[in-house]
Amino acid sequence: MTQEDDLIHLRRAIALARATMERGDGPPFGAVVVKDGVAIAEAANTTLASGDLIEHAELMAIRHACRELGTVRLDGVTVYASGEPCPMCLGLMYQTGVSRYVFASSVEDARIIGSRSADTYADLKREPSQRSIRSAHVPLPEAVELLEAWRNRT
Ligand SMILES: [Zn+2]
Repeated sequence: MTQEDDLIHLRRAIALARATMERGDGPPFGAVVVKDGVAIAEAANTTLASGDLIEHAELMAIRHACRELGTVRLDGVTVYASGEPCPMCLGLMYQTGVSRYVFASSVEDARIIGSRSADTYADLKREPSQRSIRSAHVPLPEAVELLEAWRNRT
């Protein structure tokens, strides 16, 4: 992937971001999923239009790519995003095996529109007991038994 290809796909992601903002469908974020140099899926943030806060550009583009390819594995795929992915979208990239992502504006840049992604990334670096969201591990055997049942299914 040349730097020129990166710019082509990034500019497409930015065009998607501008369009969704101008339609009033969501804040200006767009994403393109590329496999073997070919754009196979794209999406923009549509959280305002849908009222569904998971409709981030990267998440929706990855969903479309998985459906297009008929798989939940995206090894070898690059995601181009107008803005640095939030922790939710980055988590999905890990889950699907995305190999690379390229972005134009940073989570620090996105603070000017009220994004909390930079703060969330900082929080995730802390030990779980030190994070702003409290958590509790209650180790019930039946929960582990479910995992074993799933592993052993025929
Ligand atoms: Zn996101």
